[in-house]
Amino acid sequence: MFPARSMAACRTATGLARSFATVSNASAGRSHRIVVIGGGAAGLDISHKLLRSGKFAQDDIAVVDPATWHHFQPGWTLVGGGIKTKEELRRPLNSLIDPKFKFYNDSVAGFSPEQNSITLGNGDKVSYEQLVVAPGISVNYGSVKGLPEALADPKSLVSSIYSYDTCDKTFETIQKLHKGTAIFTQPAGPIKCAGAPQKILWLALDHWKRAGLYDPANPAGSPIQISFATGMPVMFGVAKYNATLEQLRKERGVEGLFQHDLVSIDGDKATFALPDGKASVTKRFDLLHVVPKMGPHAFVKGSALANEAGYVDVDDGTTRHKKYPNVWSAGDASSLPTSKTAAAITAQTPVLVRNLLGSLEGKTPDATYDGYASCPLITEYGKVLLAEFKYGGEPKETFGDWFGIDQAVPRKSFYYMKKHFFPWVYYQHMVKGTWGGPKGWIN
Ligand SMILES: Cc1cc2nc3c(=O)[nH]c(=O)nc-3n(C[C@H](O)[C@H](O)[C@H](O)COP(=O)(O)OP(=O)(O)OC[C@H]3O[C@@H](n4cnc5c(N)ncnc54)[C@H](O)[C@@H]3O)c2cc1C
Repeated sequence: MFPARSMAACRTATGLARSFATVSNASAGRSHRIVVIGGGAAGLDISHKLLRSGKFAQDDIAVVDPATWHHFQPGWTLVGGGIKTKEELRRPLNSLIDPKFKFYNDSVAGFSPEQNSITLGNGDKVSYEQLVVAPGISVNYGSVKGLPEALADPKSLVSSIYSYDTCDKTFETIQKLHKGTAIFTQPAGPIKCAGAPQKILWLALDHWKRAGLYDPANPAGSPIQISFATGMPVMFGVAKYNATLEQLRKERGVEGLFQHDLVSIDGDKATFALPDGKASVTKRFDLLHVVPKMGPHAFVKGSALANEAGYVDVDDGTTRHKKYPNVWSAGDASSLPTSKTAAAITAQTPVLVRNLLGSLEGKTPDATYDGYASCPLITEYGKVLLAEFKYGGEPKETFGDWFGIDQAVPRKSFYYMKKHFFPWVYYQHMVKGTWGGPKGWIN
């Protein structure tokens, strides 16, 4: 997710003061030079990078987010595999926000880009010179009929690593299954980290293999049978890594149900829509891991800032809004046509920040995002295939460039990066604005 091109040349970042930010209940008439919507991976990284420029005074920058907790979401896959606890992956959001910011611990309800203002959930208006929109996307549990009820039922072996509430249930269900059919799903359409739905499949398979419940050489004769039911036509969207993953799927005897889009759960039956939109297929299961559909938040989708699909309509290269030049976006909420990952954000934010700061001085944006994204695909306990690519699905491999190795080969070293290095660098550097992903540490 965050490999550094210049790890050898890393510097210790100068620490900003780490005390709790003042939480503001907005009163009418608030005005800031920059308002950042969302204190997630993108919002924290961008706001702290802006502050580090040294160009802003107390309360010049405001961050708006209703959350109490900030989560390191990429770690939820490890929780699902029993490798980490979910509690160790979260921090109080307030503790990650520099005291120099004004922190509105409230939601944004609407945008008035013609008036350079936003409206908060409590009805107050906050105005800005520049706006950064990074509220992520929503996970739509209601997209699968019967899913909310199945997830909430402690007796059902239905779970999802895509929420804090249920990611630990995933490992419980994997441990509970001793025989029968396990189905792992991925929806059609954009989701956060398109590799995660199969990472949890590979971890579960390895768990059952070690427990003597699954033999990849004789899947039909094993107590457990495994299927991957995906709304997509392939295992992974980048051809180079798809080739390895498809080969692993076949070697390991996992049934591939491609273009199968989960639409409903009823007891132990899962129903999938097929591509023609008319036919459907129903499968019985004993364990079901579900990845629901995801999409833009309604307050973004219904706004003047959205493109047709509902994402913040920014230029693929500059991250600047196509219609409102003082509006910017990065991360999952943006229209940037790349994989929705924290890794992608590490390459987007230096571009956004440089272009935004330049525009304050009347300059034309000169930094360009190349679509870089990364996905550490766990293929078993102890092995990761480190996919790194840019726009057009073209590989852009950090360690391939350095050491001439092929990152499509699952490796132990990448597993340690995923398990130890990425969570560490995320909280020590990325949310403080001192991590440039493929570029390494930056100030
Ligand atoms: C299971 C799982 C596995 C993943 N694995 C990986 C991985 O291996 N590698 C990787 O790089 N990425 C991975 N990701 C993806 C990564 O976590 C996201 O891409 C990243 O967190 C997106 O950052 P963001 O800032 O755009 O959104 P988020 O981090 O989701 O933050 C959005 C913020 O906006 C706030 N917000 C929401 N609504 C409003 C509102 N109305 N007003 C104001 N604020 C609002 C939220 O409270 C939140 O704090 C994974 C994600 C999941 C769920």
